[in-house]
Amino acid sequence: MSFKTLKLSQKLLTTLERLGYSEPSEVQIKTIPLLLEGHDVLATSQTGTGKTAAFVLPMLQNLKEENEMKTGDERYKIKALILAPTRELALQIHHKIESYGEAFTHKSVALYGGIKLGSQTTQIRSGANIAVATTGRLIDHIKNRTINLSEVEIVVLDEADKMLEMGFIKDIQFILSKLPINTLEVDGTLKKRQSLMFSATFPPSIMRLAKSFLKNPITVEIDKENLSTKQVEQVVHYVNSEEKMPLLSTLISANNWNQVLVFTNTKLQADKIVSYLNENAILAQAIHGDKSQGMRIEALNAFKEKNIRVLVATDVAARGIDIMNLPHVINFELPTKNEDYIHRIGRTGRAKQSGEALSLIGEKELTQLKEIEELINKTLPTISTEGFNYTPHVKVSQKKSDSESKKKNLNLKKAKELAEKMMGKENMGNKNTQKKGKPSKQGPSNKRHF
Ligand code: AMP
Repeated sequence: MSFKTLKLSQKLLTTLERLGYSEPSEVQIKTIPLLLEGHDVLATSQTGTGKTAAFVLPMLQNLKEENEMKTGDERYKIKALILAPTRELALQIHHKIESYGEAFTHKSVALYGGIKLGSQTTQIRSGANIAVATTGRLIDHIKNRTINLSEVEIVVLDEADKMLEMGFIKDIQFILSKLPINTLEVDGTLKKRQSLMFSATFPPSIMRLAKSFLKNPITVEIDKENLSTKQVEQVVHYVNSEEKMPLLSTLISANNWNQVLVFTNTKLQADKIVSYLNENAILAQAIHGDKSQGMRIEALNAFKEKNIRVLVATDVAARGIDIMNLPHVINFELPTKNEDYIHRIGRTGRAKQSGEALSLIGEKELTQLKEIEELINKTLPTISTEGFNYTPHVKVSQKKSDSESKKKNLNLKKAKELAEKMMGKENMGNKNTQKKGKPSKQGPSNKRHF
């Protein structure tokens, strides 16, 4: 299948060729034709599947360019609005629009907190027709009357589940109330507003939002085998919790890893890891909620350009990180929520590239590791490193009270659905297909050494 068969314009085909996109991904094949025809779409969206291009390419093609506008006034109106849960994701989408839209006159503006309103207002006024925004900052602009959303023709809610999880439902509802109701007048005729929603999970809250926001949407589901996490080789390393920092440093140095994304759960821990690595001559920076926007962008760019070897991130800050062919993701500790394990490892092995996700498991994390293994229906092979021999002693299964285990089973069921979506069913339940190491149900094995 080629991009040409998706009825994309020659301008876009030339750009895609320059970017080296030889064929569309599944979400692009399924979504682009629907969006070009103006349908509303509700789509499953996992990281690394190419969903940004899936909604940006048809948007660029469908929006009027400057020379097609009848009045100069039209130039100064936002015609497409994309809402994203984090600054990083908003900025990343904005950059993608600039890159995919290089041959167009469209102008995108990224609206997110942490930098002054004024500079964004200037960009809006200079003729932006596409806005990519986080909800809080967009509301600031709405309240300051520095943005006019009365002519928005296309609205996208990206990573909608994440936005709801972060408590943005009221903000979203407020913003949606400022948009033209499903139809709007364009050139004297009534046109339907096009609305799109991308989400990795579909809990009732998302379905309610979808119902109120989308009109006769077409649902797009992505086949499991095309999802990126299939390419990720997952391993675990048991380690005495006090030795995690030296182990991390040793692994990076001894293996000469040059681009490593390390996940941790707290800002404090992220900063501690960065200090430790820098003291050991491994250049590292952190991105987390306490860092200013400028610092976060600087760290991300330094990491992308390989000026630093390690980026240490908390889960929220890492949303939207898109680095092609990221070879190593390390869970310094397991995430607070088991589902985030899947989001984290999705940062490697993107767009059909292979990658490795390594989790450092201390004694207190053994029970959670078993839960994650149950979630992905896979026993993760263990690796070990000379000088860091460690055998966990804690009994893994603990007897739970009836209600506790019922609740847990419910959560597990939901998380499993997500895992199935993201990892491909045929990959699940297959406990004997690991390439390296030995399944570690009985404890760590020392099959693979660094
Ligand atoms: P996304 O899921 O939108 O974050 O995209 C993941 C990565 O895949 C990004 O780095 C894109 O630039 C890249 N990408 C998207 N579509 C394609 C394609 N058709 N061929 C190659 N790379 C792509």
